[in-house]
Amino acid sequence: MTATSPDTTPPPAPSATPFLSVRDLHVRFTTEDGVVKAVDGLSFDLERGRTLGIVGESGSGKSVTNLAVLGLHERRGTEITGTITLDGRELTTAPESALEKLRGNKMAMIFQDSLTALSPYYTVGRQIAEPYRKHTGASRRDARRRAVEMLDKVGIPNAARRVDDYPHQFSGGMRQRAMIAMALVCDPELLIADEPTTALDVTVQAQILDLLKDLQRQTGSAIVLVTHDLGVVAHTVDDLLVMYAGRAVERGPVREVLGAPGHPYTWGLLGSMPRLTSDVDEPLVPIPGAPPSLLTPPPGCPFHPRCAHVAEVGGDRCRTERPELPAGRGAACHLTPGQRRTALAARLAPRPGRGGTR
Ligand code: SF4
Repeated sequence: MTATSPDTTPPPAPSATPFLSVRDLHVRFTTEDGVVKAVDGLSFDLERGRTLGIVGESGSGKSVTNLAVLGLHERRGTEITGTITLDGRELTTAPESALEKLRGNKMAMIFQDSLTALSPYYTVGRQIAEPYRKHTGASRRDARRRAVEMLDKVGIPNAARRVDDYPHQFSGGMRQRAMIAMALVCDPELLIADEPTTALDVTVQAQILDLLKDLQRQTGSAIVLVTHDLGVVAHTVDDLLVMYAGRAVERGPVREVLGAPGHPYTWGLLGSMPRLTSDVDEPLVPIPGAPPSLLTPPPGCPFHPRCAHVAEVGGDRCRTERPELPAGRGAACHLTPGQRRTALAARLAPRPGRGGTR
């Protein structure tokens, strides 16, 4: 688990029109084997100054959602329906030229792998300065000055000298910082970070997450943080969205979702990760089975083939009736509040012979 300082800054009051609003988003890819429903009716809002965490296994639709927001999805063979509005502007129907202007300027992305995101042929400084020149019309000299300033801001020592280094001359942590500098050089109002610290050791990971929060405090940007690490989520985000099979299955303020999770899939995610209070010999409990094929998702609740609580709901309801996610805090599950409390209490009860809880 990553140790980052908890943010005590009070969240801004929600406005009537959310800064980023995603409504009933569907993303489908046509492949030789059929139509893949990568995102299946997703809705969420994000305000300026807030951080939304999105968690879920591989293939749950997290990254596809973010690529759709940025307009970076493969356009051929992709069908997008629903709406994505950023500061009141509809993005799903915006022409590529308009999206290109917004990317880097109003919205930017930090990718997981800095080696592939940075070109080996250009200096780090040039790769930070170029988008700044493009979006602001700054001179080469001013853009270079800005690149040095950004490298300094993200904690690269001797920034004035290192600005002329090539990416291979940087360590992994420094490259990731350089990529963050590149993403932030135009002060984007929306920052999407897709597993930004996965490849880094825990110390650098904590520094980078602190850096993102510091920059957010300075600029008031909205951040979407995609991760599989619930430790990172607990210390970094304000709100949490849990995704499964292209759908949101639970959402709410992060403390509420992690403190009293309401969906069996969230219970499974929490049970499959180590915790500081676990006994060292306490085994992790993986979620049985595998995520469903998005070519032929199961009817009813998409989690039912892996869920241990189908019988408690009773009848065929889980297999035939799709549970909807209620507005605000909630979980897309047919279990009653009483059944959830009982199931959660059973999971948290100490096991015989073990001091820890799960
Ligand atoms: Fe499990 Fe049924 Fe709830 Fe789906 S709706 S998570 S199958 S109990």
